[in-house]
Amino acid sequence: MPTPEQALDLILQHAAPLPPRVTALQDCLGLAVAEDLCSRAQVPPFTNSAMDGYAVRAADLATASPEAPVRLRVLGDLAAGGVPLSPVGPGEALRIMTGAPLPDGADSVVPVEDTTRGEGWVEALRPLRRGIHIRHAGEDLHLGQRLVAAGRGLRPGDIGALAAAGLATFSCHPRVRVAVLTTGDELVDVSEEPGPGRIRDANIHALCAQVAACGGIPVPFARIPDDPALLRKMLTLAMEADVLLTTGGISVGDYDHMKGSLEALGGQRIFWKVTQKPGGPLGFWVLGNRPAFGIPGNPVAAMLMFEEYVRPALRQMMGFTRLHRPLAQAALVDGWTGRAGDGRTTFLRVIAQREGDRLTARLTGPQGSAILSSMLLANALAVIPAGIDRIAPGGPVTLHLTEEAEDH
Ligand code: AMP
Ligand code: MG
Repeated sequence: MPTPEQALDLILQHAAPLPPRVTALQDCLGLAVAEDLCSRAQVPPFTNSAMDGYAVRAADLATASPEAPVRLRVLGDLAAGGVPLSPVGPGEALRIMTGAPLPDGADSVVPVEDTTRGEGWVEALRPLRRGIHIRHAGEDLHLGQRLVAAGRGLRPGDIGALAAAGLATFSCHPRVRVAVLTTGDELVDVSEEPGPGRIRDANIHALCAQVAACGGIPVPFARIPDDPALLRKMLTLAMEADVLLTTGGISVGDYDHMKGSLEALGGQRIFWKVTQKPGGPLGFWVLGNRPAFGIPGNPVAAMLMFEEYVRPALRQMMGFTRLHRPLAQAALVDGWTGRAGDGRTTFLRVIAQREGDRLTARLTGPQGSAILSSMLLANALAVIPAGIDRIAPGGPVTLHLTEEAEDH
């Protein structure tokens, strides 16, 4: 039985990045780029005005003051998108708008607020520093500059910079398609009133949301009955996807058909069960080259397994370099007592919070693997290594910060 670290390692060995595709800029928010992206142009492309004002030669204004303004002849008007028709000579100015190209001869821009204007002339009331209020060609990005390293997920700010730099298309890893199968005779749809002995299918919604939240495309196969023939049929359909993710039926109960069904379809078992609580009976197979996860039906265990094992694998398949949530040390305010010597790592749902210069973690309440309310509150998981059976109140724990972007 692998430890959590060994299990994750085995999973990542079988979750190769999906082949990259040429992708249009407007489709790549959140995708990982498959190559280093370098600027295809200089930004800004030409030297231009940073203000609405007058393009001038700074030397002309050296003596300007409110008592003795310097008067310049105005050659005309230039809006953004226009091109200057003549250079600015000594004693001359061109009225210029923000973003318009700086005319030859001019070296500075006087903001309109610092001028008085008349018919065909303008007066400046003070000298100005040469080069002021000008944006130089290439001062933001130079041609060939590396903007985004391969393996980084694109954010809106990246996309703006890539657009300015002329990258209309480039190579990205696609979103991973994840078939999500929930199983159990007891399950009904969220919109139904559960009859006697039935419960609503929480996992189909929780897991599809987790897939979408990490950038994948969920393909739901909801509420498959505990019937091996039907299960095999649905698994076969689900093999259209890049990854299979099933919940329920993975334990040793009489109605637990997942293992047998996956293996009957040719699934190669990599492991079954991990030394952790909650959710020990995680199974992992390779089925026709695609990863197949069998995770327990208990909703909290299912979400936790997704967070710890499935999400890093999906991120690796989508080409991200950073697979793991940030780690942090915190003081476990409530303390914790477990069972000694069971050799299992324990994951506790906690609320992490900065208090002054330290990080604290408080249990969300009862930690049973069916207690979904613990997921409503948690923003981190506290990881208690195997072999530790007690943490004193305020004692140290390691957290996985599950609401923060992966950093390693
Ligand atoms: P299983 O892993 O099939 O043995 O299920 C373990 C527990 O989780 C049982 O109490 C199931 O009723 C419950 N369960 C299984 N699947 C779901 C689901 N999709 N939504 C909510 N609870 C579930
Ligand atoms: Mg079941």
